Amino acid sequence: MKTIRLINELQELLDRSKRDNQTVGFVPTMGFLHEGHLSLVEHARKENDIVVMSIFVNPAQFGPGEDFEAYPRDEQHDAKLASEAGVDILFIPDPDEMYPQDGGIQILPGPQASSLCGATRPGHFDGVLKVVLKLFNIVDPDHSYFGMKDAQQLAIIETFVRDFNLRTKIVRVPTIREEDGLAKSSRNVNLSIEERLVAPAIQKALKIGEELFHQGLQVEEIVEEVANQITSNSPGRIDYVSLLAYPSLLPYTTDAREAIIACAVKFEKTRLIDNIIMSTKG
Ligand code: AMP
Repeated sequence: MKTIRLINELQELLDRSKRDNQTVGFVPTMGFLHEGHLSLVEHARKENDIVVMSIFVNPAQFGPGEDFEAYPRDEQHDAKLASEAGVDILFIPDPDEMYPQDGGIQILPGPQASSLCGATRPGHFDGVLKVVLKLFNIVDPDHSYFGMKDAQQLAIIETFVRDFNLRTKIVRVPTIREEDGLAKSSRNVNLSIEERLVAPAIQKALKIGEELFHQGLQVEEIVEEVANQITSNSPGRIDYVSLLAYPSLLPYTTDAREAIIACAVKFEKTRLIDNIIMSTKG
């Protein structure tokens, strides 16, 4: 595995592979890798000749007072895991090269970004789209792999690719979980021991929501029950619990093919998100 930090060095290397008609699979991450990230690599490895992973804690997607500084980082360990998982090129760009100056140009996501995390993290998805577009332009991947753990991000990126005719194909990868059901996340290390013990309550509550959804309860009743389950089984504070159509993220109506029940829960030092996608066709 090659580790590359400079944009032009990466592009020269990839240009050579593309001249040889090799396909490129791309896995963008913020590092502190876990099995969720490695599952994206596994999919990319099967479907492409070259696998590129990026590690970049993107300042543009963190708001004031969010956990940019506290976001966990461990480049050496990440490099070991990436190499073992079959990454060919690890791209770790320098923030100064990624954002040399601010020309003030914004990418504004549409209505899909106004609910869920978009409602409580204003500007977050603007920053996500900015870095994703830059990375897609730099890497020019045939396939790009994103986790369903961040289902709203995935839905917005799919729309972005479609609306702006970006040439990469987006591949959805299912959420990888700990044995007790907690979705794997780099942020889980910022839970206290006590918080970690009760954090699986989030997934359990969403599963109860899924059952109630299939029993035909009203959206408001389901959301209220899920929120109650979370607050009565953990010290976490609810940022949101929502049930929407997926991937439109519009209010759920019975003609939607899929629905999402999603939540964000704030603990002392960190905020966790999780979701379940529910088919409406039984
Ligand atoms: P992050 O480093 O958290 O920005 O995540 C990078 C990519 O890994 C995103 O596409 C995430 O959706 C995906 N990812 C993060 N956690 C998981 C997980 N538990 N299962 C599957 N994919 C994940």
